[in-house]
Amino acid sequence: MVKKVFAFALLISGLIFSSGCSEEKAVSEADMSSKSRDVFAMDTFMNIKAYGGNADIALSEAEKRILQLEDELSVTSETSDVWAVDHSSGTAVDVSDDTALIVNKAIEMGKKTNGALDITLYPVLKEWGFTTGEYKVPDDNTLKSLLKNVDYSKVSISGNKVTLPKETEIDLGALAKGYTGDEIMKTMEENGVSSAIVSLGGNVQALGKKPDGSNWKVAVRNPFAPDTDMCIIEIDDKAVITSGNYERYFTTDDGNVYWHILDPDDGYPADNGLVSVTVIGDCGLDCDALSTALFVEGYDGAVEFLRSDPSFDLILVTDDMKIFYSGGIADSFTNISGMEAEVIALD
Ligand code: ADP
Ligand code: MG
Repeated sequence: MVKKVFAFALLISGLIFSSGCSEEKAVSEADMSSKSRDVFAMDTFMNIKAYGGNADIALSEAEKRILQLEDELSVTSETSDVWAVDHSSGTAVDVSDDTALIVNKAIEMGKKTNGALDITLYPVLKEWGFTTGEYKVPDDNTLKSLLKNVDYSKVSISGNKVTLPKETEIDLGALAKGYTGDEIMKTMEENGVSSAIVSLGGNVQALGKKPDGSNWKVAVRNPFAPDTDMCIIEIDDKAVITSGNYERYFTTDDGNVYWHILDPDDGYPADNGLVSVTVIGDCGLDCDALSTALFVEGYDGAVEFLRSDPSFDLILVTDDMKIFYSGGIADSFTNISGMEAEVIALD
């Protein structure tokens, strides 16, 4: 629905070459021709542009990898790892290296964000209808009873074996696309592609710089007018990942709006003062986990996180229509909205 339209419209005005979570590489100026591929997967329109190297092969390999990750990570496909874990009735399940890596990251980020990121929210998300589009507002008692089984620290993982308590179910939707971006970039590099950019719904990830050596320009959507852009940032070799309340939501007859990022404390849509959070960093998986978690935590929690880990940059939009961005992107940030924008003060 809304999400897909917004997602597809995301502006990518540059290309980057990123090595996902690993080291940078030099951009070859030899081959400037670009190849492009559209893929629909994970409920999202994805577009990949690749420059140089064996771009055609790289794109085909990336498409295969995306479909493989979708098969492993989908919460609704009966052959996925996540399905097996969710239907394991408390027994240990062997999962792929990808799934194991994401589950480990989800637990680590759950801890780092005081439980704001909680992959065991899935039964609550189902109750709201966010998994099917058959939306409804659950009653308080139902939410309270479902929340008894929500606690990411009950997920145990040892090697590739994941064990959940009987009533607990997981969903990796808050991290899957970020990891997919990293893996696409790996595929590009393996096939000699020197510069590439991928749009996965509201997420953008770049490998290196544009083939002409300049930075990529990436637009971030205006959460108050999601068919328009709010700001442009210039990046190279980075992921730019946004969680916003406009990405998936429904409105009830009384005019209340409910969105798809839930607060694990009460099971209701997180409403802690932010309408969108963009995280910019080297690793798509980390940025995706954080964008969801910091949306839940709100402005103060997000700023506190930035203080503890300044290796990320943030763009926060508050519900009173102000933009706050971190000092690390001050030189590359252009506000094209009418909203006030200021640098986040860390002292
Ligand atoms: P999107 O995938 O829509 O671009 P996010 O990365 O923010 O955006 O992920 C949101 C998805 O994560 C939701 O659709 C839901 O499946 C799941 N989710 C919602 N709230 C939480 C939460 N607090 N912790 C972990 N996962 C969540
Ligand atoms: Mg996320």
